[in-house]
Amino acid sequence: MSDYDVVVIGAGNGGLTSALSLAKNGLSVLMLERHNIPGGCATSFIRGRFEFEVALHQLSGLGTEEFPGPLRNTLGELGVMDKLEFVRMDNLYRLTMPGSLDICLKADRAEAIAALKEQFPEESSNIDRFFDLLYEYCTQWIHVTMLRDPKASKDKYPLYFKYALKSTQEVFDEFFQNPQLKTVIGVYWSYQGLPPSKVTFGDFAIILWAYIEFKPWHLKGGSQALSSTLLNTYLEAGGDVRFNCGAKKIMVSNGRVTGVITEEGDEISTDRVVSNAGTATTYVELIEPEHIPNQLLRELGTMTLGTSFVSIFMGFDQEPHQMGIDQTTNFITTSPDADHVWDRSKTLSTPEWLLFSCYDVDDPDFSPKGASQGSLVTISYAKPWLSVPPHQYHEIKYAYAQKMVDTLAGVFPAIKDHIEEIEVGTPLTHMRYLGHPGGSAYGFDRYAKDTEFFIESRSPIKGLYIAGAWPGMGGFQPSIQSGVTIAKSIQKSMETQGGERS
Ligand SMILES: Cc1cc2nc3c(=O)[nH]c(=O)nc-3n(C[C@H](O)[C@H](O)[C@H](O)COP(=O)(O)OP(=O)(O)OC[C@H]3O[C@@H](n4cnc5c(N)ncnc54)[C@H](O)[C@@H]3O)c2cc1C
Repeated sequence: MSDYDVVVIGAGNGGLTSALSLAKNGLSVLMLERHNIPGGCATSFIRGRFEFEVALHQLSGLGTEEFPGPLRNTLGELGVMDKLEFVRMDNLYRLTMPGSLDICLKADRAEAIAALKEQFPEESSNIDRFFDLLYEYCTQWIHVTMLRDPKASKDKYPLYFKYALKSTQEVFDEFFQNPQLKTVIGVYWSYQGLPPSKVTFGDFAIILWAYIEFKPWHLKGGSQALSSTLLNTYLEAGGDVRFNCGAKKIMVSNGRVTGVITEEGDEISTDRVVSNAGTATTYVELIEPEHIPNQLLRELGTMTLGTSFVSIFMGFDQEPHQMGIDQTTNFITTSPDADHVWDRSKTLSTPEWLLFSCYDVDDPDFSPKGASQGSLVTISYAKPWLSVPPHQYHEIKYAYAQKMVDTLAGVFPAIKDHIEEIEVGTPLTHMRYLGHPGGSAYGFDRYAKDTEFFIESRSPIKGLYIAGAWPGMGGFQPSIQSGVTIAKSIQKSMETQGGERS
């Protein structure tokens, strides 16, 4: 008899949702989290009078009550939908290329198309044709991958089979002439971490389509409200949790999970572990090498750690409109060449892509009265940061942050005079708080070869499941949903094993 039916390692989105889903269905669950709060990326921290959002800029997949997205259903199933308050963003984003372009796209197909046509009239018919493809591709994708049409074939779903694995750049080049137009339509590549030349059209299309159809959302209280609500609902369902308690080892015997050893040395027996500690950490650090099949090690060896971020958290002593900020989501890029932008994210040179979110535009109560907060991020790989000598880290970090703020001030000059609080995090900060190598927030880089077409997401170790961003796509929606999918698969396997319980 085991101590628990399931031990969940990590209380990020994937850990929390798997633990809650399992506990709600009557399983005995223990969740171990090395940090002192739940959420992983989905957390907040306090400086002065501001509670800063760590990660969530735009929540995808929620949809409206009339047109619910998959995430609304998932959060409903988990029993947390009614405990949370969401704020809908009307705009996808404003994109500024200083000195040459400034455009705002609404989260609405017709209005986004109209704005694009106004800016790029010579490409009107190309824009129509592209959006027709985007929507038809996504419809076919739903039939093949979500509804799992058993009769799926190239003849029945030709666009899906033609475009899923093409690079996004190839598709842009097929439809558009103007590089700026490609930049405007393609800016969400950064939510996947790879530039259009490297991210598949399949992955990119779903992101753009989902934000238009299901709208981008913000959460009252930030993503910490979601994490805390998931945790509280889990505790109400009878789940156990230990904070400040990392898992040190997953015990394996004869190819099966047998338990977990905590960093404090406690041994907890279980037949099933859900690891939210990321694929790399789980297989490289938590399990002894002799239990990892060679094939899996070879596969892992072909993957590269995905991007992390440099994040600047700013508390302003003014409201957004007083500083000329009228959109929540603002992309700023100083280069139309996404490959160049991405190459720079592997160096400590001035970043050429920024995302600035000012949550108070759509949620005026987010910050104290008369104030507001902004999160300024750029994608950044850990490697160059890891080679910074410790005694130079602070100087280099703040010089880098200063360049980001200077670029932002080029678009919003007033901000510089109104920064009351400022905090900077680098990939090393994310490494420390998440425990993921490279501080990766999306998992591995997701090239075509790393997609579900070629990678088996089930673990070869019986009883081991990996939840969160690493085994699939990164982001809130995929990581939240991965936990629920895993919980269902655990319950199914327990039912087929005759309900064997601890
Ligand atoms: C700056 C930033 C901005 C982002 N913006 C967005 C956005 O706008 N929209 C969006 O959809 N996504 C966004 N993301 C990505 C999104 O936040 C992540 O992909 C997602 O939250 C990852 O969830 P996860 O389930 O993989 O868990 P993680 O958040 O990776 O958490 C893993 C948890 O496991 C714990 N852990 C690790 N090792 C151990 C161990 N050995 N023992 C116990 N616990 C352990 C960690 O402490 C952590 O709590 C952003 C991320 C960042 C960093």
